[in-house]
Amino acid sequence: MTATAILDFRSDTVTLPDPVMCAAMGRAELGDDVLDGDPTMRRLEERAATVLGTEAALWVPSGSMGNLIALFLQVRRGERLLAPAQAHVLDQEVGTAFWLAGATPGPLPWRTGAPGRPAPDAVRTAAASTGPYFALRTTGLCLENTHNAAGGTVTTVDEHDALIRTATDAGLWVHLDGARIWNAAVRLGVAPARLTRGVTTVQACLSKGLGAPVGSVLGGSVALIAEARRARKMLGGGIRQGGMLAAAGLVALDRIARLRTDHETARVLASGLCELGWDVDVPETNVVMCRVENPDEVVRRLGARGLLTVPVVGRVRWMTHSGVDRAAVGEALGRLAQVPT
Ligand SMILES: *Cc1c(COP(=O)(O)O)cnc(C)c1O
Repeated sequence: MTATAILDFRSDTVTLPDPVMCAAMGRAELGDDVLDGDPTMRRLEERAATVLGTEAALWVPSGSMGNLIALFLQVRRGERLLAPAQAHVLDQEVGTAFWLAGATPGPLPWRTGAPGRPAPDAVRTAAASTGPYFALRTTGLCLENTHNAAGGTVTTVDEHDALIRTATDAGLWVHLDGARIWNAAVRLGVAPARLTRGVTTVQACLSKGLGAPVGSVLGGSVALIAEARRARKMLGGGIRQGGMLAAAGLVALDRIARLRTDHETARVLASGLCELGWDVDVPETNVVMCRVENPDEVVRRLGARGLLTVPVVGRVRWMTHSGVDRAAVGEALGRLAQVPT
């Protein structure tokens, strides 16, 4: 590795399909998934439903589309949608949850010491329909595991169950934005399906740490997924010979356990940054968040040394993935040690 090699810590979405994945895409059995079905798509959707523990699943081109479809099918115009503060559906999806799905945003504060996770009490209070007839109605909750903006933080099984119980008691449907549910499952040592228990719908990304070039899956009941297929068509998300992309997704689903390596790499990076005097959160998964005075300026200076990161909610975010291994982290820390930031 030369001193000028670019090391890309911006996101696990920068991962490229490797030769094994490309070969699987190249030999995928194909049909017309919009006309009457594509056999590889079918296999992926069946496998995704099994892994997610849902009755059925639908492949979608992106996590944002998966979330939008889930909300579009469940929110009625104007109803309040609860979600942890800084949730991706609230802040990072062009507001489509509001102006397309029609929800009114209801951000929930994080519990003290539990970044990204709201308290069941906050859900109960927000959902209580004690107001007059013109009061806003709350009908849904969108959870996020891992929570991206909080730093890839994990909602544990007990926390998940408590939130589901409260939401269900309050008559809410629950969508889980599980873009990185795989990371949460690996971190907790449980099956992904354990983390979807009680939800109405779940969205999970194949294109992040699992390395597929395109795609997410949306899980739910047979009836909901049939409606979701219509909504996907409405949004222009039906892909004819989609089997090529589904084949990448099938390979991606074989790679869930590998995420453990990304989590280890993140811990090595975090402790190295800490030794160099950075103010770093202990990573729970593959995200390393650093508190700095001026994130934009620090990101620019890191970039000048070939270290790509992003400014996120007032911090500098590093993300580990298959493209930045232990050696890359060592190299990055070496560059920082030579020239203090
Ligand atoms: C990446 C991400 C999404 C959206 O996925 P895209 O495929 O980029 O549209 C949704 N939610 C969370 C938490 C994410 O990190």
